[in-house]
Amino acid sequence: MININTKDIVKKYGFKFSKSLGQNFLIDSSVVRDIVEGSNIDKDDTVIEIGPGVGTLTKELSLNCKKVYSIEIDSKLIPILKEEFKECNNVEVIHKDAMKVNFNEIVGENTNFKVVANLPYYITTPIISKLLLGKYNFNSLTIMIQKEVADRINAKPNCKEYGSISILVQYYCNAYTIRKVPPQSFIPQPKVESTIIKLDKLDTPRAYVKDEKFFFELIRSSFNMRRKTLKNALKNLKIPNDIIEFSFKESNIDPKRRGETLTIEEFAKLSNNILNLINN
Ligand code: SAM
Repeated sequence: MININTKDIVKKYGFKFSKSLGQNFLIDSSVVRDIVEGSNIDKDDTVIEIGPGVGTLTKELSLNCKKVYSIEIDSKLIPILKEEFKECNNVEVIHKDAMKVNFNEIVGENTNFKVVANLPYYITTPIISKLLLGKYNFNSLTIMIQKEVADRINAKPNCKEYGSISILVQYYCNAYTIRKVPPQSFIPQPKVESTIIKLDKLDTPRAYVKDEKFFFELIRSSFNMRRKTLKNALKNLKIPNDIIEFSFKESNIDPKRRGETLTIEEFAKLSNNILNLINN
């Protein structure tokens, strides 16, 4: 049984929560247990935690892995964390904005790591995008996020939740849902339900893509105007019409379809064919 003392630490230091930093701290030991167990970490693992708060999850991580790097932006939390972990020599508290760090540099260039975090919800999508697009050496992300974002990550074509983030994540990872978490598991309680998900990075991305930058640009354009047909949605890419039309034909995709109906493999085929025609 895990024993957590979030409320005691908050009281001991008279800590005041900041809404704008997404501070909802865990007070439910079953959730902490499920995050740590779900992350599959072991004593050989290096873990990066984004947003340790008062260290509730950090403590359990430190007991179950080799080293934890906890990145926290709030200067009020740094002395609390330093004090609480002064006798714990496998926890390193880093006072930085997780959006501005190079994760490979933190752990050492050739070290693989796992990310385990109860993410600040206001930067969920930017953090996931940064980790996936930044060519970082991580094996998995086990993260608590809003239920709505988890639904979008897991969505398949033809669902209203299916969009750029579904494709970005599913292109690089296998996604698993660990469990849902109600607002009562936090102080203060968030307005939304949460979900713990695990993203395991694939050895190679799910589809062959010649140019990832263009692939994601094409996807963004397709979803920016969800109600439009692909042919119309892609007009803002400023690619000659005949190239676009021939690429649809080559890829066996009806230009009257909407972006939300295309699989990752179809987006890959379409972007590769457009590039082939542009470069020939
Ligand atoms: N891990 C703790 C827990 O589960 O109780 C706290 C989680 S709380 C949802 C998010 C934490 O992320 C807060 O401590 C907040 O200060 C921190 N945070 C917010 N924005 C951040 C950023 N850009 N970089 C690093 N930490 C951030």
